[in-house]
Amino acid sequence: MIQKIVLATHNAHKLEEVRAILKPLGVEVLGGDEVGLKDIEETGETFEENSRLKARAAYAQVQMPVLADDSGLCIKALGDKPGLHSARFAAEHGGYPAVFDTVWQALKPHQDWSAYFICSMVLKTGPLPADEHVFIGKMTGKIAPKASGTHLFGYDPIFIPDGYTETCGVLEPEIKNKISHRAKALEKLTGFLRGY
Ligand code: IMP
Repeated sequence: MIQKIVLATHNAHKLEEVRAILKPLGVEVLGGDEVGLKDIEETGETFEENSRLKARAAYAQVQMPVLADDSGLCIKALGDKPGLHSARFAAEHGGYPAVFDTVWQALKPHQDWSAYFICSMVLKTGPLPADEHVFIGKMTGKIAPKASGTHLFGYDPIFIPDGYTETCGVLEPEIKNKISHRAKALEKLTGFLRGY
């Protein structure tokens, strides 16, 4: 069993979430800041490619098991945009919540406001490509016509998951952390680690 994993992120929110989920397995998770991980450019063309790039760069630096992820929001009527560029798209449109207006404007001519969050996670346990294990999680839902809630991570205030009537901005983190794209990818990862 792997006992220590470096999570290739400087995002404290992600670190907390992954730590909590892997703790029951006895896996200690170190953050990118703790091991001085350098940021890399996300030049891949898919979520999986980007998470592999991040995992490879992190592994080359620390030479121990690493976990890297890439995630984003894909809106069907917009050809799955902003997708890979979700963070950049927000930054280029005034950040949150200003970017929500950009999304609503773009969706105005469309009836179908369905969307999904996706997360690709790569666990890299050794130097070879065969040492890379990919886990994909999705959360399907739709874009809400107005923003709501106090949980203000990214696009959460305008995303209503399937099966719910409130946005992720309103839903308690305990709920979101069970149904989210990241939670689903992590569920697959924990299944893998149990059998590793
Ligand atoms: P990254 O995986 O850190 O590159 O994040 C990509 C971007 O996707 C974030 O900056 C957010 O804009 C968006 N995003 C990813 N996951 C979530 C989520 O759970 N809620 C809201 N926005 C998210």
